Amino acid sequence: MTAIRISGKDISADVRAKVAAEVAKLPVKPCLAVILVGEDPASEVYVRGKLKDTEEAGMISVHHRLPATATQAEVEDLIAGLNGDDNVDGILLQLPLPKGLDADAAIERIDPSKDVDGLTEVSAGRLSLGKPGLRSCTPSGCVIMAKRALGNDLSGKHVVVIGRSILVGKPAALLFLAENCTVTIAHSRTKDLPAVCREADILVPAVGRPQMVKGDWLKPGAMVIDVGINRIDAPEKGEGKTRLVGDADFESCADVAGYITPVPGGVGLMTRACLLVNTLYAACARRGWQAPE
Ligand code: NDP
Repeated sequence: MTAIRISGKDISADVRAKVAAEVAKLPVKPCLAVILVGEDPASEVYVRGKLKDTEEAGMISVHHRLPATATQAEVEDLIAGLNGDDNVDGILLQLPLPKGLDADAAIERIDPSKDVDGLTEVSAGRLSLGKPGLRSCTPSGCVIMAKRALGNDLSGKHVVVIGRSILVGKPAALLFLAENCTVTIAHSRTKDLPAVCREADILVPAVGRPQMVKGDWLKPGAMVIDVGINRIDAPEKGEGKTRLVGDADFESCADVAGYITPVPGGVGLMTRACLLVNTLYAACARRGWQAPE
């Protein structure tokens, strides 16, 4: 391995500590409301993590649970209530919702000033217009990691984002564009994906295909910010065991790349930290406090 490992653990700890220091200066603790509908085990784990992070940063977290049988109206009524609750600064609707519920419609009910996941049309529109607003957490985490590794200035870098989802690919492309990068968005219809990837100074795979990106897809010295989180079988750990891997084949990529983020321990941790940043910003913006740098 020749690549420098960009540690999501270290950078996210730093971001969380900075948020906690800013929160400690505020007259009121910002409050994040997290809504979990149903009992999806992965979502339960994510929500627990988010609640714990929020409290460790000195903020208040409120957990709202609805059963898997909840109706669209019940979900939207809960959101409406939180929109109207002056004590709540951020609202996070844990996705995916159980079958039969319309996540897009529910997200649209979130007051954009409390949209700490950056998923409403207003937040997405403000991002694409280059106006200030709440940005999606995972793409923000990718940009922070790249900036940390390269000394803050990404201008002129060619970024190739693989994936064009509303959650990750598109906002990541727009955030790197806002850093004056030259951005290419690749997707399932892209022709000769390895050749497109070889153009990248910074490659951001956000696909959901385990170990798809190989070392020979990279320009030597390139940076890989691996968004993918995939669970694969790990017979080496014992029968029935699994492990998490990214969309990049870490071993072969780390031999060619200049920088690489691990999975786990990479972008996922930054996603969590950026939720805290957004909750702090939402609180400052709503309550008329000076937002930190
Ligand atoms: P989506 O399934 O919504 O999007 C996947 C994208 O990958 C699509 O744009 C699709 O193209 C593209 N794609 C699929 N197959 C190929 C292929 N063979 N070649 C090139 N592009 C392809 O996924 P998400 O964006 O929600 O998530 C992507 C990954 O990131 C997942 O592994 C997810 O678990 C992970 N993730 C990680 C987070 C973190 O915190 N680290 C947070 C969120 C997600 P098309 O549009 O043409 O279909």
